[in-house]
Amino acid sequence: MQKNIQKVVIVGGGTAGWMTAAAMGKLLKNRMCSITLVESAEIPTIGVGEATIPQLQLFNALLGLDEDEFMRETNATFKHGIQFVDWKQLGHEYTHPFGTIGLNFDGVDFHHYWLKTAKAMGVDRLDNYAFNCVAARDNKMMRSIDVPNSPCNNIAYAFHFDAGLYVKWLKRFAISQGVERIEAQVKDVHLNNDSGFITSLELNDGKQIEGDLFIDCSGFKGLLIEEALHTGYESWSHFLPCDSAVVVPSTNTGELYPYTRSWAQKAGWQWRIPLQHRTGNGHVFSSKFMSDEEAKAILLENIEGEPLVEPRFLRFHTGMRRKQWNKNCIAIGLSSGFIEPLESTSIHLIQSNISRLMSLFPDKSFDPVTVDTFNKQADEEIRRIRDFIILHYHVTERQDSPFWRYCRNMEIPDYLQSKIDLFKSSGRVFRENDELFNQSSWIAVMIGQGLMPEQYHPMADLLEQEEVSRRLAHVKHVIQQSVDRMPSHQNFIERHCKSTMQ
Ligand SMILES: Cc1cc2nc3c(=O)[nH]c(=O)nc-3n(C[C@H](O)[C@H](O)[C@H](O)COP(=O)(O)OP(=O)(O)OC[C@H]3O[C@@H](n4cnc5c(N)ncnc54)[C@H](O)[C@@H]3O)c2cc1C
Repeated sequence: MQKNIQKVVIVGGGTAGWMTAAAMGKLLKNRMCSITLVESAEIPTIGVGEATIPQLQLFNALLGLDEDEFMRETNATFKHGIQFVDWKQLGHEYTHPFGTIGLNFDGVDFHHYWLKTAKAMGVDRLDNYAFNCVAARDNKMMRSIDVPNSPCNNIAYAFHFDAGLYVKWLKRFAISQGVERIEAQVKDVHLNNDSGFITSLELNDGKQIEGDLFIDCSGFKGLLIEEALHTGYESWSHFLPCDSAVVVPSTNTGELYPYTRSWAQKAGWQWRIPLQHRTGNGHVFSSKFMSDEEAKAILLENIEGEPLVEPRFLRFHTGMRRKQWNKNCIAIGLSSGFIEPLESTSIHLIQSNISRLMSLFPDKSFDPVTVDTFNKQADEEIRRIRDFIILHYHVTERQDSPFWRYCRNMEIPDYLQSKIDLFKSSGRVFRENDELFNQSSWIAVMIGQGLMPEQYHPMADLLEQEEVSRRLAHVKHVIQQSVDRMPSHQNFIERHCKSTMQ
């Protein structure tokens, strides 16, 4: 028992801190060790982070949070994917959906038949063959139903939610699971002279908080992992040049859209995230290519409702901490690194580090093999997400501004280059080493951004074009017919999970 971790200390009460506290509280049940979270109301949280990917369902299920309750508590809406406007070229639009595209047959992936047909008869939008794209376009929502061979059998979706309200819920839950909350500022971090491990935190009221394992959820600055342990940061700003965002919520204007809109601008992109009580808007841009004034003017020009407050600027540096676990400190959330919000992956990375920590939960010996395994997995995961996001910027036909010319011509990571090369030459793409984004995601974005393969799988020629066209038409018809029968997104929310807080 002496070897066991007895005291876990979490620094930071943003989304990362309270997700970590809630999950640890639930799983460790305050029996194996105590959990203390230190947060300071005087140091604000980042206050953004409203779009998610479907994996959040698993996290909520782990906590036992009923989905309708979650939706009501956080003013949430549903999300089928992301609509990308003006990314390939001005006036063009495509959707990166959750879920699958088409239906594989005779051992060949669907998109090869789609490519064969495109070559023979011209291109029909790939979106028409993805259930989530059609449901997004038609503003429909439903949860899976048990009908064999129906696209409604396994509907993938995520959420848009108010992150501040989610944190409030998590906090109540974590405290109910025995997590101790301390309201104070951490003023100093004490290290063991020999090992360099963190021994205690000194608070602004003079108290000392000792611990065995420290979780750094203090946001971008990385109070423990960087300011105390000097772990180092690998910059990715040459691949991902955006470093700023200007954000503002606005009033809702009409239909609640079940998708995020990402709209490419002259030096970045703008998001629109619909919630039940308001719409989240933000313009992510590169300060090297655009001034704050221009970025703010573009944001305000393009929002649909009335701004609810004065726009707020945020700065970030894309990259990752050289080790996410260093000595007896683990970085979770923005302290561990930040790619950028394009594919809504940050909250997922929080969840992922929590789950990795729980499966590699250490004892006081902090076995280096365990630590290395954690770091290797976390490193691989974030790099592969980074590469997928760079794809959106790099594969574009846009040349209308210095920013887009830079992105088209910039050097990209080898892994991404090899994925692009393989797809371009043969239409093939593989999900490797548990990477987050699956084949359908890569295909949707590569084709959406204008990367048309030179060839398709030779086995697609085993079926005559006439038969391929018949099957494609059938897939498209079944998807449309299923979507037609679904309730509208707005009706679905009103019936199941309308918030009472509006
Ligand atoms: C422009 C932008 C858009 C984003 N959009 C999305 C999105 O759509 N989807 C998504 O998944 N993610 C998104 N993210 C990321 C998301 O916002 C974060 O991953 C998430 O909010 C977690 O932040 P955090 O808890 O790590 O840090 P923070 O929210 O910054 O919290 C840090 C906490 O540490 C505390 N703290 C700091 N110093 C001290 C101290 N000395 N003493 C005590 N407490 C201290 C603060 O009080 C605060 O509670 C976005 C990020 C940006 C910048």
